[in-house]
Amino acid sequence: MADAAQGVPLLDVNRDNRPHREEFLEALTEVLDSGRFLFGPDVTALENEVAAYSQSENAIGCASGSDALLLALMALEVGPGDEVIVPSFTFFASVSCITRLGATPVFVDICPDTFNVDPEAIREAITDRTRAIIPVHLFGQCAQIDRICQIAGDRDIPVIEDAAQAIGAAYHSRPAGSWGAIGCFSFYPTKNLGGMGDGGMVTTGDAGTADRVRLFASHGMRPRYYHQVVGINSRLDTFQAAVLRVKLRHLDKAVQSRRVNADRYTRLLNESQLVAADQIVLPATDPNAFHVWNQYALRVGEGRRDALRAYLSERGIGSEVYYPVPMHEQQCFTQLKFDRDALVETERASKEVLNLPIFPTLTEAEQHRVVECIAGFYASGARSAAA
Ligand SMILES: *Cc1c(COP(=O)(O)O)cnc(C)c1O
Repeated sequence: MADAAQGVPLLDVNRDNRPHREEFLEALTEVLDSGRFLFGPDVTALENEVAAYSQSENAIGCASGSDALLLALMALEVGPGDEVIVPSFTFFASVSCITRLGATPVFVDICPDTFNVDPEAIREAITDRTRAIIPVHLFGQCAQIDRICQIAGDRDIPVIEDAAQAIGAAYHSRPAGSWGAIGCFSFYPTKNLGGMGDGGMVTTGDAGTADRVRLFASHGMRPRYYHQVVGINSRLDTFQAAVLRVKLRHLDKAVQSRRVNADRYTRLLNESQLVAADQIVLPATDPNAFHVWNQYALRVGEGRRDALRAYLSERGIGSEVYYPVPMHEQQCFTQLKFDRDALVETERASKEVLNLPIFPTLTEAEQHRVVECIAGFYASGARSAAA
């Protein structure tokens, strides 16, 4: 067994939250005493703050990032017979929002260097039935959203940015979530702006779209007990909003820590010679992107990813694979048609990607330990590709 004291967690939510404990308690107590657990003033305040932070005209709180995506498609009236273009290398929620409405996901491949959706693949996948495009800003780095919006704009197809992992990220200095017709954010605890439970937000520059998202998020009800459309119940509660307002005040500092941590991994891993020996590939940063490093994603070649992960795990080093099974290979999507030959990079990424601890309060000593352990794995040479 590894010495627990030398272990490094993938994520330590408590350590990140501890410095703000008093602020949280104060904000939560206020909500408790107000008794306004839904539609409290913190919800509107957070909506305004996130709108300003992401440079969007409107922001609408909802119950999760998954709901934000679903509400976006509902507001655009996507339904049966419609196609929505989406990368296969993403989290399930980017795709389930499409199938839930009876529409058809059209999977496209990623760029091998950034793991982000390939704009050319999007262009080639557009048909007369394409009703929306959902680029995902994976791991905290924007996809080539300028080109994607241009390709979509030429055909008048709305872009819905899945910015669940990318609040605070930017492309050409313009924030994630402000490029497309609609931006979708998640406040799941592991995200860069993580709550103490579930939460999400939709951003849009269009007041009419904002109004429709609000309508769909409240049972399609307006006025009370009169239902215009079949909506859902999706609310951000006041406790979450209060917590998130505290965290938003510290978000830029947390992002800065993640960026420092990413730079340090890059330096340490380069010094370890593993990169020069082609044993691992470091995550590429697009020079136009401001990366907020929700994840630090290595590529581990030669079929050794799972062996390295097991080696790290035995030594108490946390890591994760985002994502081991691409969406086009999921059991629940087997009825969908897709061209596997067009998803080569997606399949390769799912076999090679390994995500290291990168949370804001990760220490320098812990990063040294992670890198030493990775070097130890290759030095041991004992683990074969078959392991
Ligand atoms: C987390 C995540 C979501 C869903 O967010 P939830 O708040 O967990 O529902 C959607 N898309 C991506 C890319 C995510 O990482």
